[in-house]
Amino acid sequence: MAYIVAEPCVGCTFTDCVEVCPVDCFYVGPNFIAIHPDECIDCNACVPVCPVDAIYPDDELPAKWAHYAEWNAYLAPRWQALGHNLVEKRPESPPATDLSCADRPRSEADILTWEEDVSDETAP
Ligand code: SF4
Repeated sequence: MAYIVAEPCVGCTFTDCVEVCPVDCFYVGPNFIAIHPDECIDCNACVPVCPVDAIYPDDELPAKWAHYAEWNAYLAPRWQALGHNLVEKRPESPPATDLSCADRPRSEADILTWEEDVSDETAP
């Protein structure tokens, strides 16, 4: 089992989660944070600190976000290879009390944008 970051994280990336993770298995991209499924130890520490309830154990992931298990498994290793392991809350991330991002529209199209962003980053 592993924990999964789902759609509510898109465009929010509060990053409070990364500070409580005992194994530092969060990897950050342009608009999202992914959990590496081979590194997560299922401790549940990140779930209560996410202001937008974006993190779930894989067996409790809402069906509408089931594909996010694949996105975490796909993106975390890629961002890991780019050195984007995140272990401290980013200064540019919103404070946990600022929930204005939660109302922003977000969709599967944003995931495709992340792929392009990653490709751009690795381009010579
Ligand atoms: Fe890290 Fe625990 Fe959350 Fe897994 S469940 S990502 S180990 S804080």
